[in-house]
Amino acid sequence: MNMKPRKPLPKAKVQVDLTDAETMTCGKCDNKIFIQGYVIKKISAIISPTGKEVIAPIQVFNCGNCGELLPLGGEIDELI
Ligand SMILES: [Zn+2]
Repeated sequence: MNMKPRKPLPKAKVQVDLTDAETMTCGKCDNKIFIQGYVIKKISAIISPTGKEVIAPIQVFNCGNCGELLPLGGEIDELI
C-alpha cells in the first residue's frame, strides 16, 4: 500500500506560449471543458505519520460533458 501525506501539485513557473500547447480533450467524448474537483483521501490515525486522522484532498478534473476523469498521469492516477 502506498500512502503518502498531502503533497502539493507541481506548478509550472515558466512562462509558456499557450497557443503552442496541446488542448487536452476528454478521452471519451472529445470535450475540451473540464470541471475542477477533489478526490478526498482519508488517512486513518493508525497509519498516519502524525498519529491523527488526516484528510488529504487531491485535485482532479472531470469532463464537463460526460464526467470522465482527466488522466493526469503517474502518481496522481495511482492514488485515485
Ligand atoms: Zn467527456
